[in-house]
Amino acid sequence: PFHKSKGQHILKNPLLIDTIIQKSGIKSTDVILEIGPGTGNLTKKLLEVGKSVIAVELDSRMVLELQRRFQGTLLSNRLKVIQGDVLKCDLPYFDICVANIPYQISSPLTFKLLSHRPLFRCAVIMFQREFAMRLVAQPGDTLYCRLSVNTQLLARISHLLKVGRNNFRPPPKVDSSVVRIEPRKPLPNVNFKDWDGLVRICFNRKNKTLGSTFRQKTVLSFLEKNYKTLQALKLSQEGSLEDTEMAMVVSALGVTLEDMSMEVDDGDDEDIEMDNGDTKGSDFKKKVLGVLKEGDFEDKRSSKLTQADFMHLLSLFNKSGIHFS
Ligand code: SAM
Repeated sequence: PFHKSKGQHILKNPLLIDTIIQKSGIKSTDVILEIGPGTGNLTKKLLEVGKSVIAVELDSRMVLELQRRFQGTLLSNRLKVIQGDVLKCDLPYFDICVANIPYQISSPLTFKLLSHRPLFRCAVIMFQREFAMRLVAQPGDTLYCRLSVNTQLLARISHLLKVGRNNFRPPPKVDSSVVRIEPRKPLPNVNFKDWDGLVRICFNRKNKTLGSTFRQKTVLSFLEKNYKTLQALKLSQEGSLEDTEMAMVVSALGVTLEDMSMEVDDGDDEDIEMDNGDTKGSDFKKKVLGVLKEGDFEDKRSSKLTQADFMHLLSLFNKSGIHFS
């Protein structure tokens, strides 16, 4: 009866559902967004504590079952079911999102939510444990990655609850965690595409020194091409994106992040590949390395850089006219 491909794992433990509700901090005035309500075990309790629930469900059989479950009860007046793929539909206004989602949409969904306007108060979501640990990872943690840095730029993230696989029917192959995501208000004033471009390069080889990362020919030639284009367009002084543009960029990012959420770890080995006898280096290369030296970043490694470090590094690059998008 359950579709594996749709990530259908039904929450069976009522105590766990109560704990999720309690930790969500739902107010009686809240419009709640639920993604993937399934048979409605969580939906029922959400309806009891919030003002209304908008539930987006892909599977038409589940939609029917859900409607049947609440038919003729007072709760049904406050439930709106939208049948469709949450990644493809326009989301309505909501104050808070509470959901046990299909894990395959974790990354695009997270960025879709963070690009939604107006920003919601918080989202309390069940993720696969490893994805959750990546979201909350701090500099120096093994799982610290591009996903950590990008989501933490846009939101405060906290781990709420570990959930074992036996709380679900059928049990999934992995353990889970409930995480709270609170969008930062206001959002930091950075060009998100530029930010992500820098972070992407840095985490391609997160345990190498930045000096070594930025000596790579592919990186230098990408940056130089960008630099020259921007100089030609005289766009290097442009400001940050408008909020609506930012939202589009953030939402597009979830899709690209999906491919790399299981990044390979490149180990701690020192870099042996240098620059093929090009000892003098081009002017552009000197410019790039000059930026690293200015901020004392040459010997630092991405795996240890904080949000503030990335922010500082990006601003130094931008000051020299170097952009990443
Ligand atoms: N919330 C229920 C519970 O906790 O018992 C069910 C959770 S189950 C992990 C995920 C649900 O999301 C399934 O009902 C599945 O049909 C639905 N689903 C899968 N992909 C979806 C998508 N792209 N958009 C909306 N719902 C989706």
